[in-house]
Amino acid sequence: MTAALDLLDLDPSLTDEERQIRDVVRHLVDDLVRPHVADWYEEGRVPARELAREFGKLGLLGMHLTGYGCAGASAVAYGLACQELEAGDSGLRSLVSVQGSLAMYAIWRYGSEEQKQRWLPSMATGEAIGCFGLTEPDHGSDPASMATRARRDGNDWLLNGGKMWITNAPIADVAVIWARTDSGVRGFAVPMDTPGVTAREIHRKMSLRASVTGEIVLDDVRLPADAQLPEAAGLKAPLSCLTEARYGIVWGSLGAARDCLETTLAYATTRTQFGRPIAGFQLTQAKLADMAVELVKGQLLALHLGRLADAGRLRPDQVSVGKLNNVREALAIARQCRTILGANGVSGEYPVMRHANNLESVLTYEGTSEIHQLVVGQRLTGLSAFA
Ligand SMILES: Cc1cc2nc3c(=O)[nH]c(=O)nc-3n(C[C@H](O)[C@H](O)[C@H](O)COP(=O)(O)OP(=O)(O)OC[C@H]3O[C@@H](n4cnc5c(N)ncnc54)[C@H](O)[C@@H]3O)c2cc1C
Repeated sequence: MTAALDLLDLDPSLTDEERQIRDVVRHLVDDLVRPHVADWYEEGRVPARELAREFGKLGLLGMHLTGYGCAGASAVAYGLACQELEAGDSGLRSLVSVQGSLAMYAIWRYGSEEQKQRWLPSMATGEAIGCFGLTEPDHGSDPASMATRARRDGNDWLLNGGKMWITNAPIADVAVIWARTDSGVRGFAVPMDTPGVTAREIHRKMSLRASVTGEIVLDDVRLPADAQLPEAAGLKAPLSCLTEARYGIVWGSLGAARDCLETTLAYATTRTQFGRPIAGFQLTQAKLADMAVELVKGQLLALHLGRLADAGRLRPDQVSVGKLNNVREALAIARQCRTILGANGVSGEYPVMRHANNLESVLTYEGTSEIHQLVVGQRLTGLSAFA
């Protein structure tokens, strides 16, 4: 972040190691992402496999997990990495979040030793790509009503159903699929080359265009008994994975906002109208000040949640506070920055509208804003408004 944006001198609150990790990821994004991301976005194509291998070399995949080739970094270090990745593009942070916090975490937390040995080392290097199938065409915010079924057939499992809006699905080697069984929701590590599994890419997204999204169809997919994640019982298992990924979004969304604000500060101090830089107008300064205040408040919140996570004390409803606030404010910052760039704000030559469009997806996935309001509301009132 430019020194000017660090209004509260947060930098010294980070350890040397945390700053080093942040700087390494920032350089990676500068080298591998920034020169190309506008084209990837425009073309709706991204070299996800190549990028995953580069991210793997730096230990960014499953970064906060331990063993099996994972880096075992702190929650704060992982958050800082998410912030830098999303300053490049939300799609690339999504690639890392889904790989590490959803697919790898599910196997790491709920898998058998054999499943962990089979999948985690190659996922940590980016050789194998994972995805996480919870959402269905007719069941999004309410996954408890999922229609995908797994039933026993001798020792095997037979899976039928479909998953929708699944990040990485078309390029994945393994999908963590959540399905209803006679004894409740269970998770399965499904190799994507299993007969009966098909993945179709979803095109025409106007958001997260530098991210691969797909639909998974499961048609009489026969799996051996040991494909089931033995430790996952009930919906709380996939929800715990979502808490992991949401934590990354708390930080990541601010990366997109910061990139918008840095771009806008540079623009507003050099663009002149009425004979002076537009940054000199009081109305522009009011916008810049409000945005910088929201950014730094969000960073304080993210850092606080990260420290709670590292102390083993972070609750899911606290992650909801972070996701709700930081994504909402990041989106507001991106939209406000766009106004300061005038017509250039709608151009792909600048990252601002790309970030704003991406943040529309970030607002919706991993629990919509409304769902996080309900989680916080339940915490406040003791009453669930879900059912
Ligand atoms: C680009 C992208 C990538 C994604 N990647 C994945 C992935 O990798 N894996 C995966 O499983 N899913 C993924 N998703 C799906 C995402 O998690 C869902 O879109 C999200 O959970 C919302 O579900 P929905 O779209 O079906 O909306 P709905 O649940 O139909 O909600 C529509 C609207 O109704 C509101 N609403 C719903 N219920 C309530 C209520 N009780 N009270 C108040 N308001 C309510 C919502 O807040 C929202 O505004 C992805 C989505 C996108 C856009």
